[in-house]
Amino acid sequence: VRTPRRILVTGGAGFIGANFVLYWCDRYPEDRVIVLDALTYAGNRNNLASLAGRKNFRFVEGNICDRSLVNQLLESEKIDAIAHFAAESHVDRSILGPDAFVQTNVVGTFTLLEAFRQHWQNNSLDSAIFLHVSTDEVYGTLGPNDPAFSETTPYAPNSPYSASKAGSDHLVRAYYHTYGLPTIITNCSNNYGPYQFPEKLIPLMCINALIGKSLPVYGDGQNIRDWLFVLDHCRALDTVIHSGKPGETYNIGGNNEVKNIDLVNTLCKLMDELASNLPVRPCNQLITFVKDRPGHDRRYAINSTKLQTQLGWQPSVTVEEGLRKTVAWYLNNEDWWKPLLSQEYQTYYRKVYQL
Ligand code: NAD
Repeated sequence: VRTPRRILVTGGAGFIGANFVLYWCDRYPEDRVIVLDALTYAGNRNNLASLAGRKNFRFVEGNICDRSLVNQLLESEKIDAIAHFAAESHVDRSILGPDAFVQTNVVGTFTLLEAFRQHWQNNSLDSAIFLHVSTDEVYGTLGPNDPAFSETTPYAPNSPYSASKAGSDHLVRAYYHTYGLPTIITNCSNNYGPYQFPEKLIPLMCINALIGKSLPVYGDGQNIRDWLFVLDHCRALDTVIHSGKPGETYNIGGNNEVKNIDLVNTLCKLMDELASNLPVRPCNQLITFVKDRPGHDRRYAINSTKLQTQLGWQPSVTVEEGLRKTVAWYLNNEDWWKPLLSQEYQTYYRKVYQL
């Protein structure tokens, strides 16, 4: 078992990163946690507000592509682990403007790897680990009867987002094989839960239903995704940081394949049940099919047997429970999401859905 005590969390003000930081600070209060986040449109300091003033926590606003800042943080904070979440993460935005995806996801990951390699070589770090948090989308798309993605499925990314994540995965892999840098890659399916930016499917549906806007569903709504509650992802990453084997890849998934249209209908039912002041009820009247996303992957399914059998992780939250918690969170946290529906967001929204 490896026990890093001083962790740099990149992208810790984003959705999964913030959930991870809150989880880690709660679970391991003695560990020092440094967040490095550029606070792009997707980063939100409010996600970490509950940690203000905490002794073992520091927030640094900065870019992972800034090599001298990264070098300086690794040295001054004596970092022994990097949990790398920072990324441009939204497929639709990668179609509208891929530049930032290549810059942050590929060049940013490379910058961190180079800085950590030097830091690791200069200081003999016993517990060093570079955890690269990636996606199942690098594996491409599945037909209805194909077996789920495993760690040996060949990469076949189809969007600029997944291609940029695939590029970063390959660099991380190469740093282990070439330099022996202790790296681990995790490829996880779709996450959902508190603090997810409104553009993503589940918050989008909850928020639009609350404000009486149409609920846009791509194509025929038959695309299939696997869904994992974000805290189960955090628990999986905890397991991998402590017990994962360097040079390995671990798939993480919830074993919950759901068609988009079924998911949206479930969310509508939950909203009807839990929300008292819906402008339109039942909410499923708001469902509107829109022109499909270009290159839209049909199906993702992930086999996480390796993580389950080798490291003993299991998802603990059922999709029914997780969705209920998530809908309730968006209902109770209007102050969190309202300010995010900015002018920039509205412009993006109109471009993507033409609504
Ligand atoms: P997010 O978009 O909510 O958050 C990304 C964070 O990274 C933001 O806080 C943003 O400010 C920060 N960031 C972006 N560019 C940066 C830069 N150049 N330097 C420093 N910080 C920068 O993303 P998320 O959904 O929390 O995803 C986190 C990671 O998990 C990503 O690497 C993503 O590929 C991966 N992942 C996400 C999912 C999912 O369902 N959301 C599933 C599997 C894997």
